[in-house]
This record gives sequence, structure tokens and C-alpha cells, in this order.
Amino acid sequence: MVNRIIWRVKQAVYGLLNATKPEERSCPICGYHGLFDPFGFPVRPESQCPKCKSLERHRELALWLDIGENKRRFSGKSLLHFAPEKAVEQLLRPLAGTYVTADITPGRAERVINIENIDLPDNSMGVVVCSHVLEHVDDAKALRELHRILADDGFALLMVPMVHHWENSFERPAPTVEERIKYFGQFDHIRRYGRDFVERVKQAGFAIETYSPTPEECIEYGLGLGSVMYIAEPQKG
Ligand SMILES: [Zn+2]
Repeated sequence: MVNRIIWRVKQAVYGLLNATKPEERSCPICGYHGLFDPFGFPVRPESQCPKCKSLERHRELALWLDIGENKRRFSGKSLLHFAPEKAVEQLLRPLAGTYVTADITPGRAERVINIENIDLPDNSMGVVVCSHVLEHVDDAKALRELHRILADDGFALLMVPMVHHWENSFERPAPTVEERIKYFGQFDHIRRYGRDFVERVKQAGFAIETYSPTPEECIEYGLGLGSVMYIAEPQKG
């Protein structure tokens, strides 16, 4: 216990002495330009837009939307947004035909839905947005369910935290809460993904496109360096 208190004091002092000089960044969602706020645990010093509260991955999605005809891909489609983030919803709700937010925890979204067992008919959705959800769940079940509910011409936007230089994801059988924090960095994460994430998505019957912002965009908009968004299209029939 004493060791942990000493560790916290050291961490606080180190943070005060070595705080990075923040840079002004731009938010492609709300147009804010200036210093971003710290967010997360462990804290990421310049990650949250103070105006629209967007995080790195939300701004990444916003940049992808501005490429080519990507906005039109949502036109008239029914969109299901898991674990809805306000900044993303603000971007996508005006683009889609219908928009439904979903979460497994009651009170957090319009519908209570378990992504491993989705209470929706086959081929009933045009778009699914699923950002930083799959690392919490049985992803084989969840991906099969996303494939089932998506229409032939539908697609899913998938983002997960990933260690890109790991070939394989790191998992432990039935991890306790303590093990989840120790091995996966958060009490409700059950794996750390490696590059085999792509194969997992393909196994569920999807073809995959990827989007990764340029280094210049990462710096200008305060994005995760090397972060990738996956656009997964169900291969049916
Ligand atoms: Zn913003």
C-alpha cells in the first residue's frame, strides 16, 4: 500500500516536471482550434477536444468521412451505433436514413442490445458503427451477429485498440477483473488485439478496407499515431 502511495507521488511529480509542451490542434468535427484536453487512463495528454469532447478515434472517423463519396455511403441507410459517442453521433445522424443507438447497459442508449446476441432480424441494418466495443466481448459471436444483421450492401465501421507489431492478439482464459487490468489495461477489456484482428473479421464473412490517416493529419488533428479504421463489408450468398 505504501509502495503504491509512493508510486503515485512519483508519478504526479514526474508529470509536473516533464509535462509536454502542448501544441495547438484542430478538430475536424466542430472546427475548434487550440489546446486539447488530457483524457483517459493512463492519461493521454492531448486527446480530447474541449468543445465537442471528441477523442482521437472520433476525429479519425470524421476525416475518413470527408474522403470521396464516403458520406453518401450512409444515405438512406438504417444505422446502428453501439456504445454511442456523442461526437460521432453528431456527425453521422444527419447522414443516415434512420439512426438507433444501442448499448448493453440500460440507460446509455436508445436500445439495450447485447452485441453477442442481437435482437434484430437478418439483413435489417445498413450500417453498424462499433468503436472500441469488440475488445470487451466474445468477438467471434459479435462479428457473426454483425454479419447477420447487415444487409448485402451494408457495412460496419470497426475500431479497436491494437498493438500493431503483435502478430497475434493476447488473451487469457476467463480473466478475473485483476487480470484484465494487469494484462489488458482496463477492468472490462478481455484482450489486446494484434494484427490478427483482420483475420478475425474476415473469418466472420467480411471483406475489409482500411483507413489510416497520414502522419501530418495525426499531428494536425491530434489522432492516434498509426491508428486504423476498418470498413467491413459482409460477403453474402
Ligand atoms: Zn471538436
